[in-house]
Amino acid sequence: MEEKYFLKNKDNPESKNIDFYVKNGGYKAWESVLEGKSPDEVIGEVKKSGLRGRGGAGFPAGMKWSFVPKDSDRPKYLICNADESEPGTFKDRYIIEREPHMMLEGIAIASFAINCHQAYIYIRGEFVYGAKVLDEAIAEAEARGCLGKNIMGTGYDLDIAVHRGAGAYICGEETGQIESLEGKRGWPRLKPPFPAVVGVFNSPTVVNNVETLANLPLIFNRGADYFAGIGPNAKNTGPKLYCVSGHVKRPGLYEFPLGKNLNELIYEDCGGIRDGHELKAVIPGGSSVPVLRPEEIDVSMDYDSLAAIGSMLGSAGAIVMDDTTCLVDSLLNLEQFYAHESCGQCTPCREGTMWMVKILSRIEKGQGRMEDMDLLDDVAKNINFRTICPLGDAAAMPAMSFIDKFRDEFEEHIKQGGCPIQKDKSIKVPNADA
Ligand code: SF4
Repeated sequence: MEEKYFLKNKDNPESKNIDFYVKNGGYKAWESVLEGKSPDEVIGEVKKSGLRGRGGAGFPAGMKWSFVPKDSDRPKYLICNADESEPGTFKDRYIIEREPHMMLEGIAIASFAINCHQAYIYIRGEFVYGAKVLDEAIAEAEARGCLGKNIMGTGYDLDIAVHRGAGAYICGEETGQIESLEGKRGWPRLKPPFPAVVGVFNSPTVVNNVETLANLPLIFNRGADYFAGIGPNAKNTGPKLYCVSGHVKRPGLYEFPLGKNLNELIYEDCGGIRDGHELKAVIPGGSSVPVLRPEEIDVSMDYDSLAAIGSMLGSAGAIVMDDTTCLVDSLLNLEQFYAHESCGQCTPCREGTMWMVKILSRIEKGQGRMEDMDLLDDVAKNINFRTICPLGDAAAMPAMSFIDKFRDEFEEHIKQGGCPIQKDKSIKVPNADA
């Protein structure tokens, strides 16, 4: 797929306006759904397209919708998860600010599929501009009859409300988000029951990521078969946004079909590693996923290929680190983030993240002991899969993979009583003195 879907208007500041969107075929997919399809047909099409969730877990979107009980007499809700906070990830923000109607059209189609008449966009509190763009876009869409009461004369009603978060990473987790939307502290819930059965306000609820929903107009404009033909295989379909940050020459937001080769992305599209330096490590899917060594990056960026080599696609936010990077310092930085963002409900996550920070801090300061390596690994393994929500795993997986793949560098810190990279003054570490 050479043509771009998400980024096709990246140079056009008009892209967020409804006039521009409608002139270029916008809301046609929504119209075709409202006028010619049943909710079951919509779910069937999305299943056929192979669309999987773009927030990180990669769960098939159509299947998620089909779990909403049809016989429940409670109202159904859709929440668009716009709480993008994963370090290294900045794809949803682009859609929110530049293609808000693509997102609203997707929310409308998904709402229809689950018989929802009140949808919410839970947006990260820091996205002040994005919330303003969305409020304006919703008002535009209501004025045009694309949202609101009796949409396009079909009798179908849908209101979309924007709800701003207050800056907690854990509110990006779907059940923490539901609690927060209900006005409570963003504490994730034990599952089951799953949100599709008992979600917000004790009612069936679907939570979908921004990019997932923004794919829906493409599926209903061009057909499920067209969408399913984009990507490397039937389980990994559709266009995908890739975020690249770190030590490449051209960091930024890129769009390719799902399954872009990571080596090509770094060395061709992003121009390679900064002059005079070599690649040391890549975290391919946002900070929560296991790290890769340079010899592992000839891999297709799709859900199954990255899982096959022990990592994950996650949010497709690739963090590239060259040979000036101290991996002890990097892991410490990540674990400080997770320790700070832990909601504190589960002992392994609350205590374990704090202990990982303590151990890494002393290694970084040159006070580490050789047995700290096994201790750190042990703490991480006792967090992994032992918590209510995936934040515990997100903190544990990078630690386990850093130790597994870069143990030498950690041991060198301990042997030399500090960072060997920063001791070698010929290598300039950015912000080392900050
Ligand atoms: Fe809270 Fe961490 Fe437990 Fe998630 S894993 S519920 S963030 S303590």
